Amino acid sequence: MTKIFIDAGHGGTDPGASGNGLHEKDLTLALALKTRDILNNEYDGHSVQLSRTSDRTLSLTERTNMANSWGADYLVSIHINAGGGVGFESFTYNGSYSSKAETNRLAGIVHDAIVNRTEFRDRGKKEANFHMVRESAMPSVLTENGFIDSTSDAAALKSDAFLNSIARGHAEGLAEALGLTRKASETQAFVKILADSLWTYNSADWEDRAVIVGEDEVFTVIRNKFPVEGGHMYQLKSGLYITANPSYVEFYKK
Ligand SMILES: [Zn+2]
Repeated sequence: MTKIFIDAGHGGTDPGASGNGLHEKDLTLALALKTRDILNNEYDGHSVQLSRTSDRTLSLTERTNMANSWGADYLVSIHINAGGGVGFESFTYNGSYSSKAETNRLAGIVHDAIVNRTEFRDRGKKEANFHMVRESAMPSVLTENGFIDSTSDAAALKSDAFLNSIARGHAEGLAEALGLTRKASETQAFVKILADSLWTYNSADWEDRAVIVGEDEVFTVIRNKFPVEGGHMYQLKSGLYITANPSYVEFYKK
């Protein structure tokens, strides 16, 4: 049983960063809960513990003590960035320690899965002397999911569909890094159209336009997200192709 500790950054009297009407502590809690739910609904062989499941004040030491005494195998600490910038970055501990190569390998898998799902601008895999990654006794990563003080990132972070994409990136990355097995079930993948109107394509070619589909229409996905020059597409059950850009379509499974 792989024990995954998910830390929702900040909370209670500590709102974290704020901007554009958003508070970091609310977003990190939403992302932690969504990540837990995707892991539990779609994967086997693990258990998840959260540092908090409500708007609660916790010190950094209380958080790492919780993970360490539970004996977590992996820790992810979820945050939202601020200070001028856009996009996604992740951090591992910058000290020298014996499991550093393995820690960075696992963090790299989680990092890439989040960038792939969200299409956030990739600011890189970084190292820093942060409490959450230094004081955790197991491999860990701290994710900074967009900038709350950037108008464009904040607009995306206001969308529940985009939060679902960030959480799905975390869950898929953790599952791959930790070797979780997907639940045997008949789950199907879907995309729901978020844009007012959106082109579909006859082939995996942005020039090969087929028909326009409209907001809230839902289609079954038969081929997962794959790269097409300048972006990504899904193949639909109808045989048509559609953009995988999470600003235009929401991907989900049920
Ligand atoms: Zn933070």
